Amino acid sequence: MRVAVVGGGMSGLAAAYELASGGAAVVVLEGSDRIGGKLKLGSVGDLTLDLGAESILARRPEGLDLVHAVGLDDRVVHPRTISASIWTHGALRPMPPTVMGVPADVDALRASGIAEVDPRVVPVPDDDVSVAEFVTDRLGRDVLDRLVEPLLGGVYAGHTDALSLHATTPQVAALGPDLLAGAASARSAAESTGPVFAGLVGGVGQLPAAVAATPGIDVRLESTVRAVTRTADGWRLSVGPTTDVEHLDVDAVVVAAPAPAAARLIAEDAPEAAFALAAIDYASMAIVTYVLDEPPAFEGSGFLVPPVDGTFIKAATVSSSKWGWVADSGRTVVRASVGRAGEATLLQHDDGDIAARALADLRTAFGGLPEPLDWAVQRWGGGLPQYDVGHLDRVEIVERSVAAVPDLEVCGAAYRGVGIPAVIASGRAAARRILDAGTIES
Ligand SMILES: Cc1cc2nc3c(=O)[nH]c(=O)nc-3n(C[C@H](O)[C@H](O)[C@H](O)COP(=O)(O)OP(=O)(O)OC[C@H]3O[C@@H](n4cnc5c(N)ncnc54)[C@H](O)[C@@H]3O)c2cc1C
Repeated sequence: MRVAVVGGGMSGLAAAYELASGGAAVVVLEGSDRIGGKLKLGSVGDLTLDLGAESILARRPEGLDLVHAVGLDDRVVHPRTISASIWTHGALRPMPPTVMGVPADVDALRASGIAEVDPRVVPVPDDDVSVAEFVTDRLGRDVLDRLVEPLLGGVYAGHTDALSLHATTPQVAALGPDLLAGAASARSAAESTGPVFAGLVGGVGQLPAAVAATPGIDVRLESTVRAVTRTADGWRLSVGPTTDVEHLDVDAVVVAAPAPAAARLIAEDAPEAAFALAAIDYASMAIVTYVLDEPPAFEGSGFLVPPVDGTFIKAATVSSSKWGWVADSGRTVVRASVGRAGEATLLQHDDGDIAARALADLRTAFGGLPEPLDWAVQRWGGGLPQYDVGHLDRVEIVERSVAAVPDLEVCGAAYRGVGIPAVIASGRAAARRILDAGTIES
């Protein structure tokens, strides 16, 4: 019996892995010419580097569990440093300890010169509110602008005045009415729990191919799914160019494509879900990777920039300080990210212009940087879904509506977490529901 997975990003591949492990024959239909979605390796100069996602949260098990399951254990590494700075008030300032930007040590915050805190004890509301409203009411605008905003900008490429407290920072809501006291105790609890992030020697972009090599998974590239139609005993997928559509009959379907495509594909069978999915916005961004022959005069893994400071870049990572395997190349590698929700016009500049503007910011921040040996601009149109206020209600509507349709599932970054472990969990859970429904004969 066969299951089709629409989309060969990390969520779709995780779903395929779970289905194949459960005995199903799986066809992964990927619209582009490569698998991996937001995980991608590419060449810059003489190096092969991650041009998209580059680290896996190690505090959740699902990412490293899959790494282990597909035999990449011996490549797991942890960052040599995760000490980040904030570039603000004209200097790179080491970031004091925080819980998603909420200061966990007020003295360290004051010493950093990053932001003034204006604390107030305010009860936590039951209803969802924006992160901006929640934080400003309790800590003042400066902490929001110079700590929380850049941190959330780094994860979601969004704006805190739209982002949902419940969906993006439940750990902040859980700190209680006195955010500073809550953050101080959450920090001491977190200190003993091991490395926060992991990577792979050679890049996390190796994970998709390793998962796709699982026996029982058949990957078809350049196979855009145009329609998913219910038949008497399963599903018919219309695949390929509109001028030459092929049909594929399967018993079950997992739609692992981003929200706009998922909405179109399930509109007929799960209209409420499609409607809710169509309301999810995406932010576009670009990653600019520079290879240089000399390091910047800077200690640490990188820095974030508060949007109020009006710079072109929103963050930078010194990959050769962060990852030992990059440092072993003997080169310096710096990656800068550009673009947030609503700033798509930034990406209308050509690659050379984006690279030059980002480099100018890096030079100002680091106080100089040599001419790069090479650089690459990787655009991520529709890179990250925006979990706006009310997101979890929308996801519940999607889940309820899809659950009412037998042998149809959805998964991916649009639902309950954008990070690699979260999308893997989403894919595997979707697959498990299909296997547990029992229509599949092994
Ligand atoms: C620049 C950037 C950096 C990031 N860095 C990190 C990081 O360091 N760590 C981390 O944990 N997370 C990171 N993330 C987030 C994370 O990588 C993504 O949220 C996650 O990989 C998304 O996986 P997905 O399977 O949901 O979607 P995608 O990766 O978007 O995959 C969806 C796939 O579906 C395909 N598709 C779409 N429509 C169709 C169709 N009709 N038919 C067939 N195929 C279709 C697409 O071509 C794509 O391959 C980053 C994201 C970005 C954009």
